[in-house]
Amino acid sequence: MLNINLNTPVSSITRVGQSTAGKLKKLGIETAQDLIFYYPFRWQDFSLVSEIAKLEPTDAATVKGKIQLINNRRSFAKRKNLTEALIADKSGSIKVIWFNQPYLIKVLSPGDEVYLSGKVDFDRYNLQFVNPVYEKAGGETIHTARLVPIYSLTGNLTQKQIRFLISAVMPAVNFINDWLPPEIIKKFNLPDLKFALRQIHFPQNQKSMAEAQWRLKFEELFLFQLRILLSKREIASSPAEPIKFYEKETKKFVDSLPFKLTDDQRRAAWQIISDLGKNRPMNRLLEGEVGSGKTVVALLAMFNAALDGRQAVLMAPTEILAGQHYNNICRLLGKTKIKTALLTRSQQILNQKKTAKKEVFKKIKSGGAKIIIGTHALVQEKVEFANLVLAVIDEQHRFGVKQRQLLRQKSAGKETLPHLLSMTATPIPRSLALSLYGDLDLSVIYELPKERKKIITKIIEPKNRRAAYDFVRSEIKAGRQAFVICPLIDLSDKLGVKAVTAEYEKLKDQIFPDLKIAMLHGKLKAANKEEVMADFLAKKFDILTATSVVEVGVDAANASVMLIEGAERFGLAQLHQFRGRVGRSSHQSYCFLFTENESEKTRQRLDALISAKDGFELAEYDLKFRGPGEIYGLVQSGFPEFKIAQLTDYEIITQAKEAAEAVISEGLDKYPALKQKMDQVVEKIHLE
Ligand code: ADP
Ligand code: MG
Repeated sequence: MLNINLNTPVSSITRVGQSTAGKLKKLGIETAQDLIFYYPFRWQDFSLVSEIAKLEPTDAATVKGKIQLINNRRSFAKRKNLTEALIADKSGSIKVIWFNQPYLIKVLSPGDEVYLSGKVDFDRYNLQFVNPVYEKAGGETIHTARLVPIYSLTGNLTQKQIRFLISAVMPAVNFINDWLPPEIIKKFNLPDLKFALRQIHFPQNQKSMAEAQWRLKFEELFLFQLRILLSKREIASSPAEPIKFYEKETKKFVDSLPFKLTDDQRRAAWQIISDLGKNRPMNRLLEGEVGSGKTVVALLAMFNAALDGRQAVLMAPTEILAGQHYNNICRLLGKTKIKTALLTRSQQILNQKKTAKKEVFKKIKSGGAKIIIGTHALVQEKVEFANLVLAVIDEQHRFGVKQRQLLRQKSAGKETLPHLLSMTATPIPRSLALSLYGDLDLSVIYELPKERKKIITKIIEPKNRRAAYDFVRSEIKAGRQAFVICPLIDLSDKLGVKAVTAEYEKLKDQIFPDLKIAMLHGKLKAANKEEVMADFLAKKFDILTATSVVEVGVDAANASVMLIEGAERFGLAQLHQFRGRVGRSSHQSYCFLFTENESEKTRQRLDALISAKDGFELAEYDLKFRGPGEIYGLVQSGFPEFKIAQLTDYEIITQAKEAAEAVISEGLDKYPALKQKMDQVVEKIHLE
């Protein structure tokens, strides 16, 4: 404990036992350094120390005084163990009660001088402290009488424990070297890193806390911008093969489709086709919410590549989605002579006979297959392309320069990079996309095809829960299926195993013992997940219980009810995405929202879900009204997950971008510490 350095394991810090170490590990904390970089998500302001005589009812009071007496008492009425104390300062005295902490009388004794911080309230006629945090006076305080950090925690780790640990390793901050170039620190007037790290945990005052936050957000966004700029530069300096636009054929094909394209679809397709005509690789994001018809837009691009005698791939995140795309595209290509192929790990696809992989490899290598649909198997396996010029990625932003180069290597002798189109249903507002990704090429489909039925969305009062379940049962009796989505309640339950298992058991044993229920969570292996999903699609189950982990764009046309537990815990646009899982056929569909939170704010947010015209409106709403970190499930969709920065930090984003541009124009080689940091970050991303 004496010589703490950055690599000191938490288990060798005083008072950390095996079980605490285990809980810390769940939060990703194993060393002193991990503790230092585990930032609080808010601070409680206990900095004002009051005279006891001047106290008024409040949620956050602090006093400093001497314990006069302290005793335990059993309250039979409340079935609680009460610890009662009296604390006095020069101005007066006040009663203190703690519930169910009988050990306090061993820790605190009459005569001790302590700080108390917490809630002050009336007990009939007199004021009293209720369950305050206490801390002996003497040294510097960490739990009371200051801005007190609050961390997000798991299981029964306590704020006091983590604060104690973090304060114990604070001396190791001295070993941390600033990797931001001094010019940048100066130009953007940033505080020193060591200062920022100390102040983020134990700030002296609001101002130093704000400075620390700014600095740590800045560096996070700066690294992010550097990565983006570097990959952009690499792409911009590589040649690509222009693809000719077959206007007449395209028109004819569009006329042959079973529906009329929306104006947004036309505009997006045109933007993409224009990009393809250039000798620089396209790098475009196609946004449009669930069901807006992105696939056919991508297909128009792939269609032109095929007519030009080259190859295009469409990659989906799961086998099921790849299969759905394949079935869909084959249907749309109908009478054209364009040959397609499908490649996934198992080659097992609903409604298709299984083609041997060897067969598929051959068709791809010879150039016989022009439009190739599949999963990551297309990058991983021994595929060789004859002439790949276009890659379309569905819902997978982690696909970057590296993967593109891999694809290029798979197209023998090519010096050019394939054009890239990524598609997402995450309604990331344009302003945000632009500030994050700079001059990103973006096409957006706002309007949905006309004939879609509106999904009936309802907030269900607790007293109507049973009626909602009865309704679900009647839908199932009529041949439909239902989803039940549960939120993560425990932070350590990252993969949702606990949350889903509990819900699954409740539904299976108590609510719907007569129905067939399946569950899906992040711990299942990819293959098992696919199996569960495939069984659900094949109607082997009536109800699928799942976490948000399973938010992918599966088309379960027979499902008509989406039931969401703890709806207040999700972002609006994410709820909107869940809702988009139903209503994909002619059946009238329903979305039921359960919430335990009855506040006005929650009500308003959920009402927005009922009234908003589309996901973009909801995303803007989230952006305005929702706190950090959790903004509309961007995480699942591959958008950056920031530790401290928020997507609403426009000003810092802008400055970080300017800084990144300055560094790149000087050349990264000038900044070895930064370069090393970049390498570490990249490594981390690869380990994910
Ligand atoms: P997403 O944008 O969610 O990927 P899809 O491309 O899967 O949506 O399209 C959803 C469904 O809508 C598909 O069955 C597709 O054939 C159909 N579709 C696409 N465009 C139109 C349109 N303009 N009018 C009617 N149906 C359309
Ligand atoms: Mg899709």
